[in-house]
Amino acid sequence: MNKVALITGATRGIGRQIAITLAKEGYDIALNYRKENEDLENTKKEIEENKVKCFAVKGDVSNFEDCEKIVKQVIENFGKIDVLVNNAGITKDMLLMRMKKEDFEQVIDINLVGTFNVTKNVINHMLKARTGRIINISSVVGVSGNAGQTNYSASKAGMIGFTKSLAKEVASRGVLVNAVAPGFIETTMTEVLKDEIKEEIAKGIPLKRMGTPQDVANVVKFLCSEDSSYMTGQVLQVDGGMLM
Ligand code: NAP
Repeated sequence: MNKVALITGATRGIGRQIAITLAKEGYDIALNYRKENEDLENTKKEIEENKVKCFAVKGDVSNFEDCEKIVKQVIENFGKIDVLVNNAGITKDMLLMRMKKEDFEQVIDINLVGTFNVTKNVINHMLKARTGRIINISSVVGVSGNAGQTNYSASKAGMIGFTKSLAKEVASRGVLVNAVAPGFIETTMTEVLKDEIKEEIAKGIPLKRMGTPQDVANVVKFLCSEDSSYMTGQVLQVDGGMLM
């Protein structure tokens, strides 16, 4: 029986690459999405090319009832969840003096409360099974902070605290909880940056390039594998050495 991975926000960017990478490792994939579109169809197709099952499950992670339904449907469909990757996330960048309260709240609701909502519904299944891996996609700015991102960095720092606390709660039951903190990764999230800014950013990275979704997916693959079975509560930076 294949292992099952639930990945939130998995139709594009980092989530999509994590889903495809785990499919290549033989995982059946529960792919959470918000909107039906071409990205969803393409990702599903690419996952299924690896002779594994792909179950697409709609829902907004910031909505607790949606998350109850997402997890219920995945359990009905696959019978278990071995890996949860909390990947869904947004940015709404603005200096604090101009930031609207709604933009602060929305980023916290999706990135941090969303992580709680999905994990809260998955955790009992993993505890009963006495095994499981939870990987939270945080960010280096959750460690370093970043001007213009008080909302985003607060949400990502919150995910790190959440990861460490939950890791302590569930380690004795065989459930390992870790975070991955990417630096600048080429996705639609960073597409909005002007080319000059991207070049400037790349110059400041010791490895002299922005990361790819595959760079992040490789580390998630490691955190799902037996090779990381003595690691929990850790934050692995995937940032080309940007933050040391
Ligand atoms: P992306 O290309 O914008 O993809 C984000 C994904 O999350 C999309 O599939 C989006 O779906 C989904 N999503 C957003 N809100 C959702 C919600 N409420 N419920 C369910 N799904 C939702 O971003 P990305 O760069 O791949 O980012 C993935 C994760 O990595 C995020 O948590 C991000 O903060 C983190 N990260 C990214 C970078 C980077 O440089 N790119 C760096 C550090 C950390 P829709 O299509 O419905 O919007």
